[in-house]
Amino acid sequence: MKSPIEKIIELRKKLLYHEYLYYVQDSPEIPDIEYDQMIIELKRLEKKYPTLSNPTSSTQLIGGKRSKIFGKIKHNMPMLSLENIFNKTDLFIFDQKVKKKLENEEIQYCCELKIDGLAVNLIYYNGLLVKAATRGDGFIGEDITSNVRTIKSIPHSLQGNNIPMFVEIRGEAFIYQKDFEKLNEEYRTNFGKAFANPRNAAAGSIRQLDPNVTANRSLSFFCYGLGVVKEGNLSSSHIKNLQQLRKWGLPISDYTKIVHDINDAIIFYEEIKKNRYNLGFDIDGIVIKVDSEKMKNHLGYITKVPRWAVAFKFPAQEKSTCIKEVKFQVGRTGVITPVAILQPIKLGGVNIKSATLHNAKEIERLQLHIDDVVVIRRAGDVIPQVMNVITSKRSKNSRKIIFPQNCPVCNSHIERIKGEIISRCTGGLACNAQKNNTIKHFVSSKAMNIRGVGTKIIHKLIKKGYVKTIADLFLIDKRNLIKIDGLAFRAAQNIINAINKSKNTTLQRFIFALGIREVGEINAIELANHFVNIENFMLADFNSLIKIKNIGYKTAKHILNFIKEKNNKKIIYQLINEVGICLSEIKSNDDKKQNNYFYGKIVVISGSFLNLKQSIIKSRLESIGVIIKNHISKETDFLISNKSNTNKYIKAQKLGIKIINENAIIKLLKNKF
Ligand code: NAD
Repeated sequence: MKSPIEKIIELRKKLLYHEYLYYVQDSPEIPDIEYDQMIIELKRLEKKYPTLSNPTSSTQLIGGKRSKIFGKIKHNMPMLSLENIFNKTDLFIFDQKVKKKLENEEIQYCCELKIDGLAVNLIYYNGLLVKAATRGDGFIGEDITSNVRTIKSIPHSLQGNNIPMFVEIRGEAFIYQKDFEKLNEEYRTNFGKAFANPRNAAAGSIRQLDPNVTANRSLSFFCYGLGVVKEGNLSSSHIKNLQQLRKWGLPISDYTKIVHDINDAIIFYEEIKKNRYNLGFDIDGIVIKVDSEKMKNHLGYITKVPRWAVAFKFPAQEKSTCIKEVKFQVGRTGVITPVAILQPIKLGGVNIKSATLHNAKEIERLQLHIDDVVVIRRAGDVIPQVMNVITSKRSKNSRKIIFPQNCPVCNSHIERIKGEIISRCTGGLACNAQKNNTIKHFVSSKAMNIRGVGTKIIHKLIKKGYVKTIADLFLIDKRNLIKIDGLAFRAAQNIINAINKSKNTTLQRFIFALGIREVGEINAIELANHFVNIENFMLADFNSLIKIKNIGYKTAKHILNFIKEKNNKKIIYQLINEVGICLSEIKSNDDKKQNNYFYGKIVVISGSFLNLKQSIIKSRLESIGVIIKNHISKETDFLISNKSNTNKYIKAQKLGIKIINENAIIKLLKNKF
């Protein structure tokens, strides 16, 4: 058992360490709630053992330490802290103490947002902004004048009347969440690190050596009070003074309210708590202040906090917990997402058992290990995030997280292409996690064009276990189809017919239908024309692939990873050899060249023809590298139509698209129907 003095020394040491990280490095390790609990414990011990209290204890000093890189500015009036309370009982105690000291005078309170940023003191001399400082240790702050001048909402000169010769204006510099997310995105990309929360981003941004950096960080500001005022006539009401600041052009939050009863302050607290995630910036509670300047003077201060104000804090958004294990989930598109399984904690009234780790890069950035103690943040409905590791709490049992090489669902290998953050399972055709998407794409009109097999039917076929891979589609029994809710005999027969019909297709449609990443219709045409048949395509190598038009490094890698994956190979050969999918081959390069009038063009076919079936024109054109589309757009090269009164015809005319009739198409294709 530790003695009280040992406990006090240990707590003071820990607090100093965390204050340095928080105030100087702008990079705290532990959640605020843990720091606050240590302060509460230290206060309790110092009260119980008064002989052990010390004027240099964190309970007695204002937290902000100064960094030596900035010049010093002595505050004309100290910039103090606020007493924190976390429940209504303590608020009633505050109210009673105020009333007692004011001998039950009628009091009105000004309720404000407690903005989670960094305190700044602005000095205006004859209406001009001359100095700006951080709070520092409450008496001497850091000179951040050049940086503050870059904050757009802070005027360089005050406007209007009644401007004192000298005035100190106090407020909070902060960053809007959307600006914070943008900043962190850039930070992660450029420096592989991120700010833990908007408060630290704001503090880190304002305490920059180069004001140009601050200027790019989109900082904002709200004023909440005054310091020393010389040669000026200000009101004896705090709220009226805030209104005066607004008239001078300074930003004041709209969420400021006068109440006459402490119960109304609680209503304000509840309203703000409900709305806090709609504000667009972080607040960590409300501040309740006596409005009368005369009463404030009478109430005065105790050590580092005023007696006339209190911060009523919201429940924490951040807490620490332990990572028990990391699971790897496979999404519908094959994306592998690591998920941290946590020692459950309650945060914002919700039990949190897991948090996404996004991707391998995020694990590297956090330098995360299993068994680590981490800070979890949950703001509103946003999914819980792992903010940082508390490295000082890393145990000997902690283990490195090893990103798997193979898909946890189908065991196909996982690819992470150079320059890409995301890791993916390459077993698109075989992976159970991806089957919904794979089958949907395979049957779609531009792929195998199996009519009648829509999302609902696919879902039912998968659910009933009739279809596990795309090859199973061709083994479906009509009786099983009828068993599926809502499918009549005729509809089932139509589906079977469509499935059988799709067995005769083109190589380009088949390649497109496989759903290889970055292989769209156009790339599929290029690949089909280059490799001529499926056997050649399955033997493709990197050098041959990157010579093909439009196929770059990444696409080539995706293709190779796909065709080399043995699970995919098995299904492709099953489709060709067992199912009997017949792919019309691109005959030769000469043929391709002879018909190059249409090669790679986007064509729409409309209506019926005298001598040819629309489906025949379509498959003929597709086999020579034409992309057939259903709708006319700016990208369309030709419309093939015999009729001139259709909507497609009129639209094509409007867009200046070339229109070809049946005779012309026969001639152009040299009677090869
Ligand atoms: P505080 O932040 O709780 O309250 C005082 C500050 O509130 C003022 O200086 C001012 O900047 C700000 N404020 C915002 N809106 C205001 C308003 N409307 N009116 C008046 N002031 C307003 O107190 P503190 O002494 O600055 O710091 C303690 C806080 O810092 C605690 O919340 C603590 O958890 C956190 N902290 C955390 C760590 C950590 O490691 N996580 C370390 C040190 C401190």
